[in-house]
Order: sequence, then C-alpha cells, then structure tokens
Amino acid sequence: MKQCGLIGDPVEHSLSPVMQNAAFRESQVDATYHLWQTDAKDIPSRIESLRDPDVLGANITVPHKQIVLPHCDDLTATARRIGAVNTIVNRSGTLLGDNTDAYGFGATVRGAGVESGRHGTALILGAGGAARAVIVALQQLGFPRILLANRTVERAQRLADELGGGDVLPVDWDSLDEDLPGATMLVNATSLGWHDGEMPLTPSQVARMPRRALVVDLTYRETDLLRAAKVRGIASVDGFDMLVHQGARSFSLWTGLDAPVSVMRRAVQTEQQLRAAR
Ligand code: NDP
Repeated sequence: MKQCGLIGDPVEHSLSPVMQNAAFRESQVDATYHLWQTDAKDIPSRIESLRDPDVLGANITVPHKQIVLPHCDDLTATARRIGAVNTIVNRSGTLLGDNTDAYGFGATVRGAGVESGRHGTALILGAGGAARAVIVALQQLGFPRILLANRTVERAQRLADELGGGDVLPVDWDSLDEDLPGATMLVNATSLGWHDGEMPLTPSQVARMPRRALVVDLTYRETDLLRAAKVRGIASVDGFDMLVHQGARSFSLWTGLDAPVSVMRRAVQTEQQLRAAR
C-alpha cells in the first residue's frame, strides 16, 4: 500500500485525511493518507522520508509551507512565485514542490461565475500565506487591479512589492470605506471568521459593496461576513470549495488520475457535521 500524508504542526484537526482517503477509496487507489505531525527541527528528515518508493507525496501546512522549499529538488513555477509549497510529489525519488492553493482559489471563483479576464477590482483583506496564493490566482485570472489591506500595513506593502507589477496596491485598513464601493470581489484572507462575532469588516461596510460583487471567505464555515453579504443580496462563497479543489489537485498530482471532487466534498461536509454534533 502507498503512503501519503499531511506535514504540519498542529495537524490533528485537519480534514485532509477524510477527504483524501475518500478519494483513494472511490478511485480504487491502494493508498492511505496519514497525519504526520512534525516539528520544524524534524523537517529535513521528514522530507527525506518522502523519497521512499512507497510514498506518493505529502501536503504541507502551517507553519512549514515556506521552510520546505529548499528541501525540494524542483519547484513548479507557481510554487516559486507564491514562495510556498503545500504539495510535494515523489517522482521516483525526486521531490517536486508545488502549490495547489492558487488552483483551489481559481477553481472556486470560476465555480462562482468569475470568468478569466473579467475586468474589475479585487480587494483582499490579509497579507499572510493564503493571501499570497490568492494574489497569484487573481493575476492568473487576469484581474487588472488588486487592492491589499492588512492590519500590519508594512506586510501588505512587502507583498505588493514582491508579487505585484503595478497591479497590486496596498491600501489603508482605515480607509476601506472608500475602496469598498469599487470592489467587484472581496476576499477575506485574514484569520478572522473561525468564531462567531469575528468579522474583518462591519455589516455597514459590507453594505457599501456593489450588489454584483462576489465575497469569498477562505474560512471554511459560514462566517458572519458571509451572512452580512447574503443579507445585502451579494453573492458569496466560503472556503470549503478552495479546500476541496486544492486537495483534488494534490490527489491528481500524486496519482495521475482525475479527482472525484464531489466525493471529496461530501466526505468533508459529513465530517464537519459529525464534528459539530460532538
Ligand atoms: P497567516 O497567519 O499567514 O496570516 C493571517 C492574516 O490574518 C494576516 O494578514 C494577519 O494580519 C491577519 N489577522 C490576524 N488576526 C487579525 C485581526 N485580529 N485583525 C485583522 N487581521 C488579522 O494565515 P494564512 O494566510 O495561512 O490563513 C489565513 C486564513 O485563510 C485562515 O483562516 C486559514 O484557515 C484560511 N485558509 C483557508 C484555506 C482554504 O483552503 N480554504 C487555505 C489556506 C488558508 P497581520 O499581518 O497584521 O498579523
């Protein structure tokens, strides 16, 4: 049996094993997905172990997405551009580092009706690891103007300098009221939303957005931000789809097969319901 797993710290709450093991079963791939809890000091030996012929590869999660880069033999252009790896593929002992978060985000917004090359202004809240993947995905979709607001403004400035070519503009969190009416897409890439009452914007700020806009919250639950958008009649999508699509892309990279996306989505939703009922 082949092995695969999630490398991070912590990993115990991850939905990836449920999602990937459902995909292996559905596709009749003889493989198991494990939780590989790993301290930073153990990263070199953990990554080295992925060269074993029985290992398909791994997902990498916080806080290791950047420190694994030099341990890969090669990186895809997307991983290099984002500056982070969330998927490693073992190709006969050679380790390829990729990043499927941008793919997951792109597939999510395309599923919500956003066409490639659609003109408009996207406003991203947050400038952490997830925001990096979102910027690259929006650039791949052809968004000409990406505004970046972050609590720590210097971090937004650094990210704009690194990933932008004049198309990524840092904006002041305190002047968002001016930017919201012109935004055709709002992305919450902050850590705010996992708990009720946590909201990066106030409902009255959400109401400043145009009705034809799309609100994407990377948090994979229905957040207060998404509820506020719905009340206003603004289309919205949570982070579930991104989670499923990034996982589906990893599955395809490891196996060479099309991923059973609907089976993976159902497995994640069922597991979430079970956890909520506990
Ligand atoms: P990081 O820790 O790298 O970044 C966190 C971001 O949130 C920073 O911009 C930080 O701002 C901001 N932030 C944190 N607390 C606050 C606050 N109180 N007020 C305003 N801003 C705040 O995290 P990630 O980028 O990895 O993840 C961000 C979110 O995206 C998480 O909720 C994560 O679960 C989700 N995610 C979802 C994925 C999916 O597949 N759906 C994939 C990846 C991430 P500052 O710089 O000022 O600290």
